[in-house]
Amino acid sequence: TSNEAERMIQVYELANKFYHHLLLNTKEGQNALNYLLTRGFSEEIIKTFEIGYALNQKEFMTRFLMKKGFSLEFLEKAGLMIQKEDGSYFDRFRDRIIFPIKDHNGKVIAFSGRVMNNGDQPKYLNSPETKIFNKRKILYNFHQARLHIRKKQEVVLFEGFADVISAVKAGILHSVATMGTSLTEEHAKLLSRHAETVIICYDSDSAGVEATFRASKLLSHAGCKVKVAMVPEGYDPDDYIKQFGEEKFRQDVVGASVTLMAFKMQYYRKGKKLQDEADRLKYIEEIIDELSMISNEIEQELYLKQLAEEFSLSKDTLKSQLKERLAAKK
Ligand code: ATP
Ligand code: MN
Ligand code: MN
Ligand code: MN
Repeated sequence: TSNEAERMIQVYELANKFYHHLLLNTKEGQNALNYLLTRGFSEEIIKTFEIGYALNQKEFMTRFLMKKGFSLEFLEKAGLMIQKEDGSYFDRFRDRIIFPIKDHNGKVIAFSGRVMNNGDQPKYLNSPETKIFNKRKILYNFHQARLHIRKKQEVVLFEGFADVISAVKAGILHSVATMGTSLTEEHAKLLSRHAETVIICYDSDSAGVEATFRASKLLSHAGCKVKVAMVPEGYDPDDYIKQFGEEKFRQDVVGASVTLMAFKMQYYRKGKKLQDEADRLKYIEEIIDELSMISNEIEQELYLKQLAEEFSLSKDTLKSQLKERLAAKK
């Protein structure tokens, strides 16, 4: 029932306030607070994102919420508590930094908890999917970014919460992230309804590059203009900001974002010696293949021209190649 959904939001809101309080105002939260400050998250940004801390105790939150009138059964359903077969139970989140996940109206509907020392525990632990939490639909920070996205007709898409938080701190207010899953069709549709352009700013590792290709396909399909903001090898956006500063991130990363096709050209060039014939042919083939997937003919024309000029080829030859490629697909 919708009543149950409302109550679930209530319990998440309540738990969130408590986690946030524990982080900022208690001795037990001091370590976690230091961890965040050392990472460069200011107290102001911690408050803006209502970051919290779950104590290193077995059933602290469960007991607190039971006292507030929530049943064990309900807390389990909400994903805040885990019950074992022998009837004993424990809090899902223990000794973790808590990032509240909010729905697009700003209500807390889930948590993601991060360990402070990477041991054998998974780095991030999320609430399970519930009546109110669907990872395929939710974008982190969408509720705060929405107006900025609309105004700029642009949105910057990241991989992780930490990236969004640092980007917002750096003044990139139209930032969102997926919830540790790849971008879905639902996400793409949502973004296309709010902005003309999506700037993908994923990690620079191979997983990030692969995810950029995948996300760009969905976004183009949904009608978005896609650009890519590239972070230098070895960094993710958050690392980059910490290392080189906010100004450089705004200018040299987000400000220097390129069209999707330009990104792909750079990608296919990597590791090739274009003065060698075989590599050159391979490169041209890869670009023509990519061009065959672009539906905008003006754009196709533009890149064909570039390709023709760069390699001193006739545009007509390239064009007939492209036509062949297109015909082969049908
Ligand atoms: P941090 O800077 O805190 O290490 P990150 O965002 O750089 O975090 P990545 O390893 O790049 O972390 O992963 C990107 C996103 O994927 C995370 O923000 C999180 O949502 C999700 N993720 C990462 N590791 C896990 C995990 N072990 N379980 C679930 N989700 C995860
Ligand atoms: Mn990553
Ligand atoms: Mn990362
Ligand atoms: Mn990171």
